[in-house]
Amino acid sequence: MPEITLEIVPAVVIPTHLTGEVQSKLAYVDQGIAKAVVSADGLHITLHLHQQPNSAERSRLEEKVQRVVTSLARGAIQPKVQVLEDFMDRPVRYHQDPNDVLLARGEMSQEAQGIFTLGPLVTRLIEFFENQFLGLAASFNAAPYRFPTLIPARYLERVNYFRAFPHSLSFATHLREDLDVIDDFAQHAACDHEHLLGALNTSAESFAPIQTLLSPAVCYHLYFSLADKPLPGGQLVATAVGNCFRYESFNLRSLERLWNFTMREIIFVGSKDFVLQNRELARQEMAQRLEKIGLAYRVESANDPFFIGEFRKQAAFQSAFQLKYEIRASLPFKNATLAVGSYNYHQDFFGRNLNISLPDGSGAPAGAPVHTGCVAFGLERMAYAFLAQFGPEPANWPAVVRDWIKTSAAPQNPGGA
Ligand code: 5GP
Ligand code: ZN
Repeated sequence: MPEITLEIVPAVVIPTHLTGEVQSKLAYVDQGIAKAVVSADGLHITLHLHQQPNSAERSRLEEKVQRVVTSLARGAIQPKVQVLEDFMDRPVRYHQDPNDVLLARGEMSQEAQGIFTLGPLVTRLIEFFENQFLGLAASFNAAPYRFPTLIPARYLERVNYFRAFPHSLSFATHLREDLDVIDDFAQHAACDHEHLLGALNTSAESFAPIQTLLSPAVCYHLYFSLADKPLPGGQLVATAVGNCFRYESFNLRSLERLWNFTMREIIFVGSKDFVLQNRELARQEMAQRLEKIGLAYRVESANDPFFIGEFRKQAAFQSAFQLKYEIRASLPFKNATLAVGSYNYHQDFFGRNLNISLPDGSGAPAGAPVHTGCVAFGLERMAYAFLAQFGPEPANWPAVVRDWIKTSAAPQNPGGA
């Protein structure tokens, strides 16, 4: 079947620093779009479509695309990117995309778009990185926490998440408590190659009103547990690992971008100085760890992928106040980088919105909102970037990684003394 494409000339030239952002947001314009490509010069957009549109559909598509373009690109000012570390020239040994070889060897398999199971090779590598992050957390005496995968809708609402990231939400629901509804579902539910049919088609009312979503981040759970009271002791360092969910439509691809991924966070709560100093210490210690591993990367200022309406204001705010730095690891096979971790400072955003206050005697005026920050690592991405730089053969991995995996995975001596 010939490919169906639609060429659109953007109403505003898309500046280079926004081509990736526009391209990824075009995923949310219309279900009929299978892929979108913004040319490097920002002068053309090519939409790959599932079906030939009629003229009304074409103008509707064009109108929506132009809305995305103008709201992201019109009058956009390129933020000054601040580079804090640059080790991109560290020697790497591999120049291919590790995905194909991992799939071919059964070291990874795809359950659905953006959902992968990982075999022993990637799992051990993730354990190695987890050990590094736990070492980092221990140097701050971070208290361990475990958080649920579900998060109440009202929590996310309190921190403006619905306005900032509506496109990436994942909802969790269940059948209504009604014997007829449940019986009907049990009898008629069936799947096509990817969708649940039956109950959904017959009546959306079978599902209960949404109370919970799949959690998009780890640190939110800590802030909610501290809400509406003074922070005991005035400062806290915590760590937790958890499943995170960000729906990314057709941008979901391999280990590079998952719907369901795992994040390890170290979280700082306290005064402004406490949070900023610890964020900086964490960065410095992590730099030493990444040097020993030999990872090629740089750390630079960044912003979160806010949705279209919020993007300009929020991204400019983040960059003006240097709120986010990303560890961007080199992906040699495509001469690009990938964010494998981030150093974040939220100012008093969570303190204010969730009413978490500093107690008496903590330096700041009593009752002032706490400041927060977190250091977050994407475990699958960390392993993916490492494999992209060193390949899938452990024999070619840096000794520090190989040796740790060998000793930690050594079987117990069965009859040992
Ligand atoms: P952040 O909170 O900075 O957006 O995310 C923290 C880290 O989680 C990122 O630096 C990245 O390593 C990981 N992460 C964020 N989004 C995704 C995603 O879509 N897929 C994967 N695999 N990791 C992600
Ligand atoms: Zn966080």
